[in-house]
Amino acid sequence: MELKGKSAIVTGGSIGIGATIAIELAKAGANIAINYRKHDTEAKEVAKKIENIGKKCLVIKADVTSYKDAEAMFKKTLKEFGRIDFLICNAGINKDRVIWKMSEADWDNVINVNLKGYFIYNKLASEHFKERRSGKIINITSINGLRGKFGQTNYSASKGGIIALTKALAKEVGKFNVNVNAVAPGMVMTEMAKKIPPEFLQKAVDETVLGRIATTEDIANVVVFLCSEKSRHITGEVIKVDGGQYI
Ligand code: NDP
Repeated sequence: MELKGKSAIVTGGSIGIGATIAIELAKAGANIAINYRKHDTEAKEVAKKIENIGKKCLVIKADVTSYKDAEAMFKKTLKEFGRIDFLICNAGINKDRVIWKMSEADWDNVINVNLKGYFIYNKLASEHFKERRSGKIINITSINGLRGKFGQTNYSASKGGIIALTKALAKEVGKFNVNVNAVAPGMVMTEMAKKIPPEFLQKAVDETVLGRIATTEDIANVVVFLCSEKSRHITGEVIKVDGGQYI
C-alpha cells in the first residue's frame, strides 16, 4: 500500500504495537513521528529501523496526558515533514485489579492516559485535518472495550470510551473528508501481555477460534490499510483483530 510522501504521528511508538505500526507505516512510505515516556533506547532503535528503511523519524519524549506536549509535537512534526496525514493513537496502560481492590489512582491513571490522551491527540489532529480537508485517525482500542473484562473496569471503561469517541468524532469530521476508525485487538504478544499471568494468557489463546495470539504485525497491517486510500469509504468503524477471541 502506497503512503509515499505522507506522514504520521504514532503515540506510544517506543515498544509493542506502536513500534510495529511506526515501522510498517514507514515501510509503506510514510515519515513518522513517535512519542513515548520511558523506553529511550527502544525509541531510538525504532527510529534507526525507520531511517534504514529510508524514511524520516522524529522521536519525541512526551506524556500523552500533557496538552502542551501534544501541541509541541504537532508543531514540530509539521515543521519537519511539512504535513501530517495520519494520527495513530496507541499509547495505553493497564492497572488490572478487581474494583474492590482498585484505588482511585489506578482509575485516574488509566483513564488519563487511555482516554484523555486520546482526546488531546484526536482534537489536535481534527483541527489540522479539518483545515486541510483530509486526514485519517486510527484509535487503538481493545476487544475489552466492547465486551468488558474481569479485573479491568478501568481499562475496559477507557477502551469503551475510545470507541464512543471514535464514532462521535467520525460524525463531526466526515464532511471535511476525515476518516476516524478504531482497531480493537484481542490479546497481542507485547510487554503489556507479558505482565499477564500465564494461566490468563492461555485462557486468551483458548478463547480465540484461530488458536493463537496476534503478533504486532497483525495489528499494524490493518492500520496501514486504514491509512491507505483503499479504505477511503470506511469511517466510524471498529475493526476487531482478535483471531475470533470475541465473536
Ligand atoms: P506496551 O506497554 O507494549 O506499549 C505501550 C506504549 O505506550 C509504549 O510505547 C509506551 O511508551 C507508551 N506510553 C504509555 N503511557 C504513555 C504516556 N503517558 N505517554 C506517552 N506514551 C506512553 O503496550 P501494547 O503495545 O501492548 O499496547 C498498545 C496499545 O494497544 C494500547 O492502547 C493497548 O491498550 C492496546 N491493546 C493491547 C493489547 C495487547 O494484548 N497487548 C490488546 C488490546 C489492545 P514508554 O513505555 O516508552 O513510556
